[in-house]
Amino acid sequence: MDLEFSPQELAFRDEVRAFLAENLPEELRRGAAASPTVFVEPDIGQKWNAILNAKGWLAYQWPVEYGGAGWTPTQRYIFEKECALAGAPYLTVLSLKLVAPVIYTFGTPEQKARYLPRILSGEDYWCQGFSEPESGSDLASLQTRAVREGDKYIINGSKIWTTHAHHANKIFCLVRTNTEVKRQAGISFVLMDMDQPGISVRPILTLAGDHEVNQVFLDNAEARIEDRIGEEGDGWKIAKFLLENERGGSCHAPRLLADLDNIEAFAREEPDGYGGVLADDRDWKRRVAKVRLSAKALEVIELRILSDIAKGRPAGPQTSVVKLIASSLRQDVDLLAVDAFGEFGLQLPLSRPLYGDNAPAPVHSPAAQVAAARYLNSRGWTIFGGTNEIQSTIIARTVLGL
Ligand SMILES: Cc1cc2nc3c(=O)[nH]c(=O)nc-3n(C[C@H](O)[C@H](O)[C@H](O)COP(=O)(O)OP(=O)(O)OC[C@H]3O[C@@H](n4cnc5c(N)ncnc54)[C@H](O)[C@@H]3O)c2cc1C
Repeated sequence: MDLEFSPQELAFRDEVRAFLAENLPEELRRGAAASPTVFVEPDIGQKWNAILNAKGWLAYQWPVEYGGAGWTPTQRYIFEKECALAGAPYLTVLSLKLVAPVIYTFGTPEQKARYLPRILSGEDYWCQGFSEPESGSDLASLQTRAVREGDKYIINGSKIWTTHAHHANKIFCLVRTNTEVKRQAGISFVLMDMDQPGISVRPILTLAGDHEVNQVFLDNAEARIEDRIGEEGDGWKIAKFLLENERGGSCHAPRLLADLDNIEAFAREEPDGYGGVLADDRDWKRRVAKVRLSAKALEVIELRILSDIAKGRPAGPQTSVVKLIASSLRQDVDLLAVDAFGEFGLQLPLSRPLYGDNAPAPVHSPAAQVAAARYLNSRGWTIFGGTNEIQSTIIARTVLGL
């Protein structure tokens, strides 16, 4: 693999860098730095989406006919890396990287025409209704029942850990449409309006005090039959496609490496209490080097997956390898941040708002300010999208053939 950029790629990198320097407002950069989670609040995320959409770069991963940028895998990677280096907010994963690929891959022409432009414009903000109180790792056991009545499904059940359900106006759900067949064959994938009498949302506050996830109650909620994606019973196949995108659809290494750079810069200034600085401490250096090497290895795997996708080869179970490594590294980096920033990371209450007009000024920097909150929040990385134990099983079975 040739890891050098070509002159054209370097020119593209400079174009992205110049765009970010000119168009990423300080308010959003600070908001992203002060967000303890990958799911940035819509008041940051949607503003950044609108700026990228105006440039035609928001849905860069989509096929060109639906609004994609037509970039090569290397260009995608350069874009993600430059965004990470500039401290841009994460893109809204649930809409852009999860439901959109399902719609343009499995949707009808009407579904594509109705929903994809509304994601780009920001009119629709999606959440994901897969997990249930009794169905997480064993997702095929889900019980939420959809019964056909005329041109609608009437849906009863409950979804849990639903990220940003309190912000979303749309939800994509796995529902059971048939109880007589094999579990997987009785599941369908439906799109629904959140704003309807049959849906209520209860907040779940996390350890860091954040309101990120929810429980969603479906009590005679309605979904139009025309809003089912694929045929009745296709839900499992579509969910597997979506989960592979969730696990490997983003490049994690650039953010991990950028965060490591910030932590290391801080450590070069931070007295170690013995007349030196933290960056000179042998144990510290060993820990940072270990994480940096693993992040570099992850970068190569992510580049390979992008290149496979560009050649028309689906990423498949390789995405489980990415999910497993990236989630553990996220936690390693966030632990290094807590150790480096120390008391600076604990100066403020962990709950928001940590950005915006009313936010208290950070004692050190926004990244230091959220170190503890990020550390707590990133416990979820080894759980959401399928736990590490489940990813290990997928790798053992489908990659190693064990
Ligand atoms: C921050 C966060 C955000 C989330 N957002 C969403 C969302 O937006 N939408 C959504 O649908 N879901 C969401 N989830 C839910 C997530 O997908 C589930 O939590 C996850 O699939 C695990 O399911 P569970 O919590 O029911 O745990 P369980 O499945 O009950 O697992 C409990 C423990 O047992 C282990 N275990 C279970 N089965 C096996 C096995 N066969 N072999 C070995 N070990 C096993 C697990 O690894 C885990 O350690 C989110 C979760 C988190 C933490």
